[in-house]
Amino acid sequence: MTAATVLDYDEVLERFDPVLGLEVHVELNTHTKMFCGCPTAFGAEPNTQVCPTCLGLPGSLPVVNRVAVESAMRIGLALNCEIAPWCRFARKNYFYPDMPKNFQTSQYDEPIAFNGSLDVTLEDGTVVTVAIERAHMEEDTGKSLHVGGATGRIHGADHSLLDYNRAGVPLIEIVTKPIEGMGERAPEVARAYVSTLRDLLAALDVSDVRMDQGSLRCDANVSLMAKGATEFGTRTETKNVNSLRSVERAVRYEMTRQAAILVDGGSILQETRHFQEATGTTAAGRRKETSEDYRYFPEPDLVPIAPPAEWVEQLRATLPEMPSQRRKRIQADWQLTDLELRDLVNAGAVDLVAATVEAGASPAEARAWWVSYLSQEANARGIELAALSITPTQVARVSALVAEGKLTNKLAREVIDGVLAGEGEPDEVVEKRDLAVVSDDSALYAAIDEALAAQPDVAEKIRGGKVAAAGAIVGAVMKATKGQADAKRVRELILERCE
Ligand SMILES: [Zn+2]
Repeated sequence: MTAATVLDYDEVLERFDPVLGLEVHVELNTHTKMFCGCPTAFGAEPNTQVCPTCLGLPGSLPVVNRVAVESAMRIGLALNCEIAPWCRFARKNYFYPDMPKNFQTSQYDEPIAFNGSLDVTLEDGTVVTVAIERAHMEEDTGKSLHVGGATGRIHGADHSLLDYNRAGVPLIEIVTKPIEGMGERAPEVARAYVSTLRDLLAALDVSDVRMDQGSLRCDANVSLMAKGATEFGTRTETKNVNSLRSVERAVRYEMTRQAAILVDGGSILQETRHFQEATGTTAAGRRKETSEDYRYFPEPDLVPIAPPAEWVEQLRATLPEMPSQRRKRIQADWQLTDLELRDLVNAGAVDLVAATVEAGASPAEARAWWVSYLSQEANARGIELAALSITPTQVARVSALVAEGKLTNKLAREVIDGVLAGEGEPDEVVEKRDLAVVSDDSALYAAIDEALAAQPDVAEKIRGGKVAAAGAIVGAVMKATKGQADAKRVRELILERCE
């Protein structure tokens, strides 16, 4: 192909309208799997959380996890969905080594929740209502580890290892209706949708929503329609995009890649693609199957689920304060301007700041740390704020040390750096790096006397009543204490010494 592999973004928008479809898989935080009693904890030794049912051994029979069904309904309700009065599981048949049963127990044409919506606020405050097609229950697959290749992919690997601990972990798949008419904002809308959904799922406490651990994964379907066209173009599905930033980048890249092909007279292959974090591009995966390929049929080993209306209403009553309502309350409680609230939300810092305040910091201090210093650190590392290796409790502790006069702001930043670098709790970092403010007056007197002796003319001026001259001595003392003294206290002591 001689044409450019991507088209300039502005040109894409002149010629095409993007259409998005977002599929988010969320792993539920139930203690046990979807159809058996195996534990679901992340990070256990491979193949230690398995049984005949989740390994699909002959004769084993599944039993539905009641808590998972409740979580599915609560998610549906929070997304303004209708809850099916009767629904079934279906078998999705395909062979894949990480799926020991040779089929995935999922839902097909009878999802538990459907026809919902989610309001998404963009960075400038614009609200976009994203229509939800369905939220259905299914189970996760195991994990393959391809060993010996450069990329961790199966190509070039010399062998593969399989871990079935994750096989059978409850999943909810949330599928949007096509999102049209977003134009240049399509990538931003995709990111904001996943971010809003993540906040909502966290508020529901149905998942730990860790994108970095795969408990929240987004598949982004992208297609382009020529301006004025009425039919959707062929779409690609970029799989398992695992950070908010990557969702935005993947959508944008696909728009520019597809546009280059279409402009050159080519056609888009319906296929899955993989997002490549390092280059910000997508690479071809497999040709996309159609639903016929999966030979879906109703799961014969499970009875249908028919939640009585009272059960649904009971669950509706357990819905927590929704993130959008919570933001309004926080704005009032912390007396934030619209702009301050938006900065807080855009930094992904609402929960972190709230937790820091809960741990004892003032809202202003907590906000200052997360929205400025820690956001910069997260940006520099190219990760989400929440993925920084510091907790709200630790930030609150640093904030308390400043309030108690044991750290200056400058020293506090060093303590934060130490915590981020894995040097331990704030108090340990203070000790190890010797960062505490020198508050011992006798140590300060020694440094002051030395500075006064070194600059006798300045000392004379202060004694003569020229208080402003003390600045030079303060400077010398701060230097001698490597900035670890409280300048105000040093000044007081100098004047006292020169009385
Ligand atoms: Zn099991």
